[in-house]
Amino acid sequence: MPDKTICPVCGKTEFQEECNYDICKYCGWENDDCFEEGGANTLSLIDYKNRYQIYMYLNPKYIWKTNGYPKLTAKDYCTYCHQYSTSNQENILLSSKCGCFFCQKIFDSKLISAHYINDKDGKTAVCPFCGVDSVLPDNKVDLSTDLLATMYKVWFE
Ligand SMILES: [Zn+2]
Ligand SMILES: [Zn+2]
Repeated sequence: MPDKTICPVCGKTEFQEECNYDICKYCGWENDDCFEEGGANTLSLIDYKNRYQIYMYLNPKYIWKTNGYPKLTAKDYCTYCHQYSTSNQENILLSSKCGCFFCQKIFDSKLISAHYINDKDGKTAVCPFCGVDSVLPDNKVDLSTDLLATMYKVWFE
């Protein structure tokens, strides 16, 4: 069993007791045992964790108590997603679909199997259709044609 008094979003705060509705100063999670939407927190635990990861990526010094919940733009999400286009072999193996933000295709991740290049931290997928290293795995990224189109604009235009 995981320790129920450790903040389930950021892991940085130890609450005095389970479900005492204290608020974690690092991520803003209210100490509730409801992990779905509709509890003391406005988002589900999964959504909280996802948003917190994005905040930390964009600003490694992010603290909820100081920064609150800045509004995330589509470009912010693109910046966050871009990290998964390099050294991404492990994530691709855990994904069922991948998307290429150069040629805009979404395809079965098994098609990547022979298409990797070595980089300093591991292996980076190249797209089996266009050969560009702009492949995103769906285990980390919420893939959509809109996202791929926005990422193309941000990186290739
Ligand atoms: Zn926290
Ligand atoms: Zn491609």
